[in-house]
Amino acid sequence: MAVAPRRSSFVHFKPRDLPDRELVRDLRRVARAAGRRRMTSAFYAEHGTFRPNTLARRFGSWNAALGAAGLEVTQHWRVPDAVLLNNLADVWRRLGRQPTWRELTKRGGVSKFAGATYKRRFGTWHNALRAFEAFTRKRGGREVLPRRTRAAARPAREIGWRLRATVLIRDNCLCRMCGASPAKDPAVTLHVDHIVPWSKGGETVLANLQTLCAVCNIGKGNTGKGNIGKGDVRTT
Ligand SMILES: [Zn+2]
Repeated sequence: MAVAPRRSSFVHFKPRDLPDRELVRDLRRVARAAGRRRMTSAFYAEHGTFRPNTLARRFGSWNAALGAAGLEVTQHWRVPDAVLLNNLADVWRRLGRQPTWRELTKRGGVSKFAGATYKRRFGTWHNALRAFEAFTRKRGGREVLPRRTRAAARPAREIGWRLRATVLIRDNCLCRMCGASPAKDPAVTLHVDHIVPWSKGGETVLANLQTLCAVCNIGKGNTGKGNIGKGDVRTT
């Protein structure tokens, strides 16, 4: 689509002195030459005589300028955040877990919006998830989130690696009972341990987990907690 740029004519007149019809005529000229009825402002900026801003100012918006020229208006409807976040809840429910942004695809009707849309809106996927978390909290959680992630009777005994890492970082990789640290003594092995044992109803949540060295954990084991190897985390 070779549309001859007519930048040179810029200097001969001031666009603001031109009647609307001149501006409209140029829009139509570029559209006709390009063989399209729809035109982005970026395309017009490259091939048109005037600046897209000049037209947008004159007609109120770029779309209004297109409308005045009888061209198709590009829809730039901004999807409300709540719609995006509700869709995320649907996908979450469908998958039964937190989706990755790559899983957000319109293919196969998985999601109504692409992952890229979330990144554009929220800056990063991480930010989108944070917005989602705040959104679900505001809604009372249960309403939008699947039962099995929010309202599960009790989390599993198994401590996922993410949660283990979170506990270790929170506790500065120190045993909470004796302060032993693998950084100071390579022989020290740290465990992530249920404070209230799982067998006694303790949940696998951050507040009920602590970092203990193997020695302290064995000592604690005598007072209720068995299988010390289970939550074993070796930090080398
Ligand atoms: Zn210890």
